[in-house]
Amino acid sequence: MGHATDSKFDILRKKAEEIIKGKTEKLDLVQTESELLRAVHTLEVFQIELELQNEELKLSLERSENISQKYTSLYDFAPIAYFTLSEEGVILNLNLIAAKMLGKERSFLKGKAFEKFTPQSDLSTFNDFLAKSFDSKKKEEIEIGVGRGIGYFICAKLTAIVENGHEECCLLTIQDITERKAYEQSMQELNRNLEIHAKELALSNSELERFAYVASHDLQEPLRMVSSFLSLLERKYKNQLDEKALQYIDFAVKGALQMRNIILDLLEYSRVGKQNTQMEWVNLPLILEEIKQLQRKMIKEKRAEITIEGIVSIWVYRSPILQIIQNLIGNALKYSKPDVAPKISILAIDLPTCWQISVSDNGLGIKEEYFEKIFILFMRLHRKEEYEGTGIGLAIVKKIVEGLGGKIWVDSEYQKGSIFHFTIAKSIT
Ligand code: ADP
Repeated sequence: MGHATDSKFDILRKKAEEIIKGKTEKLDLVQTESELLRAVHTLEVFQIELELQNEELKLSLERSENISQKYTSLYDFAPIAYFTLSEEGVILNLNLIAAKMLGKERSFLKGKAFEKFTPQSDLSTFNDFLAKSFDSKKKEEIEIGVGRGIGYFICAKLTAIVENGHEECCLLTIQDITERKAYEQSMQELNRNLEIHAKELALSNSELERFAYVASHDLQEPLRMVSSFLSLLERKYKNQLDEKALQYIDFAVKGALQMRNIILDLLEYSRVGKQNTQMEWVNLPLILEEIKQLQRKMIKEKRAEITIEGIVSIWVYRSPILQIIQNLIGNALKYSKPDVAPKISILAIDLPTCWQISVSDNGLGIKEEYFEKIFILFMRLHRKEEYEGTGIGLAIVKKIVEGLGGKIWVDSEYQKGSIFHFTIAKSIT
């Protein structure tokens, strides 16, 4: 800039000198005194004009120097990294933050090839980008690694624009986007996990549908037969049977009826995914009484003790909550130690966004490696010959809990006992 003004100034001065020289030559031809005086006057006017021009030039020189200094400071201290690269990718100029980004002195970096500061894997991408920028003369962008070496590379966004001067060069701005990239990556991972989760859910949904189909077609009919023959037995042989037999029939009818209800509830739940019954304040001790009634045989046989503590009522759909607790108590009774009377306790607590219910037992316990596996459909830790079961119960419980906006998990000590915790969201969507 300074140089250009200097030469302009020189030209002007030369012109003036030429004029003076021209006038001087003319002076030789001056004949009269009055002509001489006029010539001197003209010269003086020229001189004043020149001095004025000189002054103006000096001022504009100062101004342009000022601007250039401001520009340099802006360039040097800009919060964004600036590089000027030659067509071969050599660093011609750079600002302070750019030098910091590459972890070297500015003087060291000038004249070095920029590609030395990109990872090997991004080399061809960078060179293509540079060539494209010089070709297109349009703004080009890429995202690559930049830094002083392995372990020091940051994720960077490069924006290039090629300037048409007397020599073409590329102005490059670099933004550190490491944090944004990390965030994007974690979001992608989250999305992937969500997709996997959604697929798993869809899969277990269809498994449940299949189970529901089997239950509705294969179980309902024999169950109807059992119930009707039990009723028939009661009606026809009432007089021949003693009190105890009639009581047994009554229990059996009730059990069959309850089984039918559960199947129907489950069918409805698996088909709709949501309850179409009304939510209500469900009284937990009453639910427990109902379950005790249903499991009375096993409770009596095993001399089991079942207690309940904590809050009394929760706002929920009645039938699924009964099903969950019944299933957990059923398991606690089933997987108890052979010679130890089961002690089962239920604790319901009120949390800010959910209710948490825990069912603990003093039974066989579960090894930690199975804490999650037991909730998978058909997953069993015991052989059919030892303990009857299908491995469906906890998968259904998990499905129901999740349908109620909650979670289920287990804490257990092998050979000591287990606690199954589950939550129910207060606002079920
Ligand atoms: P099932 O009881 O029909 O096998 P579940 O899905 O209810 O199916 O349970 C899966 C497995 O988890 C059971 O086979 C059992 O090994 C284990 N399990 C469940 N509840 C308990 C418990 N309270 N104590 C110990 N093991 C349990």
